Amino acid sequence: MAIYNLGSINADMTYRVPHLLAPGETLATTALSRGLGGKGANMSVAAARAGAQVRHLGAVGEDGRWAIERLTEYGVDTRQISVLSEPTGHAIIMLDRKAENCILIYPGANRALSVERIEAGLSEATPDDFFVFQNETNAQREAAELASSRGLRVAYAAAPFDADAVTLVLPLLDLLVLNEIEAGQLEQATGQSIETIPVRDVVVTLGGRGCRWINTDSREIRDFSALPVTPVDTTGAGDTFTGYLLAGLDRGLPMPTSIELAQRAAAIMVTRQGTADVIPDLKEVTEHRF
Ligand code: ADP
Repeated sequence: MAIYNLGSINADMTYRVPHLLAPGETLATTALSRGLGGKGANMSVAAARAGAQVRHLGAVGEDGRWAIERLTEYGVDTRQISVLSEPTGHAIIMLDRKAENCILIYPGANRALSVERIEAGLSEATPDDFFVFQNETNAQREAAELASSRGLRVAYAAAPFDADAVTLVLPLLDLLVLNEIEAGQLEQATGQSIETIPVRDVVVTLGGRGCRWINTDSREIRDFSALPVTPVDTTGAGDTFTGYLLAGLDRGLPMPTSIELAQRAAAIMVTRQGTADVIPDLKEVTEHRF
């Protein structure tokens, strides 16, 4: 069983700031750290760290070979990552003293991958596999259709939220993961409450309040409390959550057990600054005492 992830790969530049920028303001930052990020890369690393076999479908520019190397080091199969003429995507992350952030994204190569390359990347996929994607690449609908037609279970992390993007792929999904704000935006866009969205499993993450799982087959709604931690940087918590959740499901674990693992991994993440480079492995996630 494998997880195919059509996902973004970014160079994350995290700037520590005394407060988040206001319009027209110029602000000196107090520290800069660079690392591997992008929702796609974060999810691939999280799932690989959780023990899953992960095949990343994506693209970087010539300036992004380091990212491919790093993903490989973290256990991700990178053979389907293309090197294109567009620059590698990057994110400028502002992080204030209260661990609040603002993020500016330049998509670059992430939005330039061809459908043919995605099709080639999925050529060995079987119905035992998962396909996951987010809203930071192009060709999402085409890729989800391909994956669905091959019988893969299709999961979508609806971030960054775009009403058109999500409504286009909604009928193809088996699992939808979104945060509270995105859930509200989806309700607004569809005029439907999140409990009645026609996707078998919906997981709404609620930050420090944990998450809610809605199973539309059984009409079951289950709430999970977050683990008690002091947040330092919440960037990448949601991606780590989704990567671990998929790895659990891919291993055949039931949804509640997979959610519990995902919440443990995400809680550790919020205590750390950084994204893909600091995602904990399964041993740490299972042994950590909260
Ligand atoms: P996103 O990063 O996508 O906005 P959330 O902020 O909802 O996602 O966080 C995703 C998950 O990370 C939550 O469901 C929870 O398990 C964990 N998490 C986030 N913030 C905290 C926190 N302050 N304390 C404990 N867990 C947290």
